[in-house]
Amino acid sequence: MLKLKDPSLFIQQALIGGAWTGAAGGATVTVDDPATGAVIGTVPDCSAEDTERAIAAAAAAFRTWRLTTAAERARLLERWHDLLIENADDLALIMTLEQGKPLAEARGEILYGATFIKWFAEEARRSYGMTIPAPTTDRRILVSKEPVGVAAVITPWNFPNAMITRKCAPALAAGCTVVIKPSELTPYSALALGLLAERAGIPAGVINIITGLPKIIGATLTASPDVRKISFTGSTAVGSLLMAQCAPTVKRLSLELGGNAPFIVFDDADLDAAVEAAIVSKFRNGGQTCVCANRLLVQAGIYDAFAEKLAARVRAMRVGPGVDDGTQIGPMINAAAVRKINTHLDDAMALGARNITPRDDLPMGERYVAPAVLTGATTAMRLASEETFGPVAPLFRFESEAEAIEIANGTPYGLAAYFFTENLHRAWRVGEALEFGMVGLNTGSVSMEVAPFGGVKQSGLGREGGPTGMEEYLEVKTFHVGGL
Ligand code: ADP
Repeated sequence: MLKLKDPSLFIQQALIGGAWTGAAGGATVTVDDPATGAVIGTVPDCSAEDTERAIAAAAAAFRTWRLTTAAERARLLERWHDLLIENADDLALIMTLEQGKPLAEARGEILYGATFIKWFAEEARRSYGMTIPAPTTDRRILVSKEPVGVAAVITPWNFPNAMITRKCAPALAAGCTVVIKPSELTPYSALALGLLAERAGIPAGVINIITGLPKIIGATLTASPDVRKISFTGSTAVGSLLMAQCAPTVKRLSLELGGNAPFIVFDDADLDAAVEAAIVSKFRNGGQTCVCANRLLVQAGIYDAFAEKLAARVRAMRVGPGVDDGTQIGPMINAAAVRKINTHLDDAMALGARNITPRDDLPMGERYVAPAVLTGATTAMRLASEETFGPVAPLFRFESEAEAIEIANGTPYGLAAYFFTENLHRAWRVGEALEFGMVGLNTGSVSMEVAPFGGVKQSGLGREGGPTGMEEYLEVKTFHVGGL
């Protein structure tokens, strides 16, 4: 099944306080391969008690980890980074097996995930404080940064590696310890990361990983007074629930939630560049990312040309198992994902959309969805207001710039937006008018370790990566010295 160079990277146990372990009661959950539906293995279904043990281990480790020097933490993070790179092929294979994405994309994610570790290893040394001129001569005021404490990290299945490194690297760099709860659909990528962290010399208890179904684990993490911070990436519904569950213990929160990204192509756009970016933004990971273009708004003068060029590219896409050479669209994560996509497609077709890329060459298997370009999309359709999370590109026609901005902002979400124009004045006007945390002008990608990532409105709280990413795991302490 798995032809790993280092088979020890495939682990079916949780990591608590440096010990690889099953759930206290022995319960497990199975994990399957989206390409075939076959069971890959099991992982412990951790209970409240297991979760408490992981929190206690993280709290104990925090007492010493917080006292290490920034240089020491940076050194350990660098080693962890290097081990990801050295094991990239195995990590990619594990990811494709449990998540379904094409192997080349999985490898790309491992390298992308590693960039966060490198970045925050570098940032570790730079959590500077400040001194403030005091209002009286007998006083000095100093401001320093301290780690928040134990951070719980809850991550989704669409980026099983990078969503973990993007949270854990800044947490560890800041001096925090973590309890990770990966998606129950993709736990093996997380567990392999845990093993590599151990091999890098990161001390026991600094990284704990509990696997299993989310409700009890989530309730236990949020209720615990010892957990001082929750960093979550996932749906808005769950993010909002976690926020409510954190209220009684007033935790720090970072939330990366759903999006409904507009992708606007103006008449004066570079057509080829816009098509290329649409392919990247819409079809990466089979359309299963929170920054994927969800609504492609195309101005009337360029609509037909854009539709035809995009369709030609989409018709040529290879759909198949992620491990097959040349696959561009792998299987969707599970049956529920396929149902949602098909519901959106049926609804759009019933309301007058036209699929201009029909095909009948899908591989066998229930989780494959044909990539589609739909013309005639309207705001009355479900795919206009909900994230489709699949390889479906609906093209909405608009006439004026004002109309495009109104449609683009007409959503409770505000994560990523993209637009294409060669006009400098329009570039500034539209860029400033879009109510989103990230705006891409003439590019379909906004995710990289050096830049803040995050959303406004119901897309979340806080920013990950970039020069501000470590702040999410730091508290400000003001030290007043009086009577001088
Ligand atoms: P998605 O739609 O991407 O699957 P979810 O929000 O359902 O998003 O899942 C993201 C992460 O949140 C996963 O690790 C999942 O297990 C976890 N999760 C789901 N429900 C809860 C919950 N009630 N409490 C804590 N975590 C949860």
